[in-house]
Amino acid sequence: MKQKFIEGLKTFRPNCIVSIINPYMRMAQDMQSMIRVESPEFIRLDPTSADKKCYCCGKESKILPCSKCLMAKYCSKECQKADWIQFNHKDICNHLKALSTFV
Ligand SMILES: [Zn+2]
Ligand SMILES: [Zn+2]
Repeated sequence: MKQKFIEGLKTFRPNCIVSIINPYMRMAQDMQSMIRVESPEFIRLDPTSADKKCYCCGKESKILPCSKCLMAKYCSKECQKADWIQFNHKDICNHLKALSTFV
């Protein structure tokens, strides 16, 4: 189970391109619209460009890794700061650091 999770993490991460084959649009019970996928085989992940893109703004550029976890990557010090403060990277940084020792 743990191994599966790590495999998934290697593929699915920020800036990974997710394609859904044959999605359905449905109305959920709370009246929000949702997309239903009939089977996991219909979800395709393309991580090929993920490592070249900034985790904060998605821009493709020369990349600076987070000095603590080395997993999150940014185009600039400004983006790193914004992710830390506004998007709470500080909350997940230690978890990513722990995971980076596996991958
Ligand atoms: Zn950026
Ligand atoms: Zn970090």
